[in-house]
Amino acid sequence: MIFVADAMLGRLAKWLRFLGYDVLYFRDIDDRDLVRIARAEGRVLLTRDRTLAERFNVRSMLIRSDGLREQLLEVFSRFPPGEGAPRRCMKCNVPLEPVAEKTEVRDLVPEYIYIHHDLFQRCPLCGGVYWQGSHARNIMEVIEELNR
Ligand SMILES: [Zn+2]
Repeated sequence: MIFVADAMLGRLAKWLRFLGYDVLYFRDIDDRDLVRIARAEGRVLLTRDRTLAERFNVRSMLIRSDGLREQLLEVFSRFPPGEGAPRRCMKCNVPLEPVAEKTEVRDLVPEYIYIHHDLFQRCPLCGGVYWQGSHARNIMEVIEELNR
């Protein structure tokens, strides 16, 4: 399942990417363009705007909550996180690639991160480096809560 998020859902879009969801997001975009992309690419439109969801004949999901955590739970309840879906760059929405040799990222991450972590992933587009850090822990807690 692939998505396009409206301009009000930037944070949600980033975190969904990190969890492996394919989510397009544009900071400034016309409603009609959003809908056109959703239709053309078969994406589910995630929106905070009830009228947008109702006005256009497009597959959409109305996000009701304001908070990121609640918004994630809303999405998970209808579209559960896929097992083994590769994480995506929060900025670029492309799947991250494993870093084979830890030494490759020595100069790209803070020293204490380098010392305490062994597994890193990198975005092939922007070169951003990711690791299993506090970000991931918070998000994993949300997922565990959902599975209870
Ligand atoms: Zn990137």
